[in-house]
Amino acid sequence: MKPLPPGAVIGILGGGQLGRMLAGAAARLGFDVNIFCPGESPPAARVCARHFDADYDDKAALKAFAEACDVITYEFENIPVASVAHLVSLGAEVRPGAKSLDVSQDRLAEKQFLNAIGIETGRFEPVASIAELENALKALGGEGLLKTRREGYDGKGQARVKTGDDLAAAFAAIGEVPAILEALVPFEREISVVIARGADGKTTAFDPSMNDHSGGILKRSTAPCGLSEDVIANARKLAEKLAAETGHIGVLALELFVLKDGTLLANEMAPRVHNSGHWTPEACATGQFEQHIRAVAGWPLGPVTRHFNVEMENLLGEEALAPPESYPVGTILTLYGKREAKAGRKMGHVVRRTGPAGQT
Ligand code: AMP
Repeated sequence: MKPLPPGAVIGILGGGQLGRMLAGAAARLGFDVNIFCPGESPPAARVCARHFDADYDDKAALKAFAEACDVITYEFENIPVASVAHLVSLGAEVRPGAKSLDVSQDRLAEKQFLNAIGIETGRFEPVASIAELENALKALGGEGLLKTRREGYDGKGQARVKTGDDLAAAFAAIGEVPAILEALVPFEREISVVIARGADGKTTAFDPSMNDHSGGILKRSTAPCGLSEDVIANARKLAEKLAAETGHIGVLALELFVLKDGTLLANEMAPRVHNSGHWTPEACATGQFEQHIRAVAGWPLGPVTRHFNVEMENLLGEEALAPPESYPVGTILTLYGKREAKAGRKMGHVVRRTGPAGQT
């Protein structure tokens, strides 16, 4: 595919805040954006040129969408792989392709893939029944995190279990669906590397951020992450390996646990722009949303030099209802336009520049 000229149309599967922020970056580069997402008024649909309100497996709607877009991308990883395959069969260019999507939809396949390409993870065991859960607990030392293989996010579809617990109740709590049991990783901190890979195979990785979670939901990302140059270089190498091995075009994120001795264990990957990269537009020469648009449009990637030290904080639920004037001067506010502030729901975020880059 030739680089897209300004005025071309980028299609995005998914209509959440990531799509909304991608649409903003695309608009700034002169592109129009079409959103494909079921629902009357998802956040991204209110800032796009056209909204295709249809189910992801609606073949007629997918065909109309393919005809209306010059390239198609996605903003969340639970888009059915079959829908992407169908778009490709219609001749649409979908970036990133189905490979990264496929790998990231299933925690078991994802961990096996990461291990196969030399990226270490914590220990894990597949669990498809209560008997298997009992055996997995024994194999992992009597304690672990039970997670559904598919469709878990922000700590949903997870339960902490240990020997002696009511295992039938734990398996019921996650819906008795295929799962994995993960050993508890004694991490010292959590970081993520947000990397972009262009259509020409070149990559740029943002400085890793340190991530703090609360109840399984990201609360704060901080850059710099405070780790040694060696550990940072290793983290970047792992993300580069992952981007190359999946043939990814666009942005992807690799979440890593950092152990006391600097060992890095992958937690999970996201084949898309990522919450832990929301500080990049306010701190770097090119932000993650523009970088993703550049990659899928076949443009050269921009430089990712970080000019500021930053802290990004998610606004969850009613936290986002504070009046804008209540934020301290210098706080850069982004709100997602969601209609209902449910508890724990990501409603917006703030970025604070804490100093020039290089100073802590
Ligand atoms: P996840 O949805 O799998 O990314 O999990 C959300 C958060 O829960 C992670 O960012 C960690 O803070 C914590 N967590 C998940 N898996 C593990 C694990 N195996 N060991 C320790 N903490 C974990």
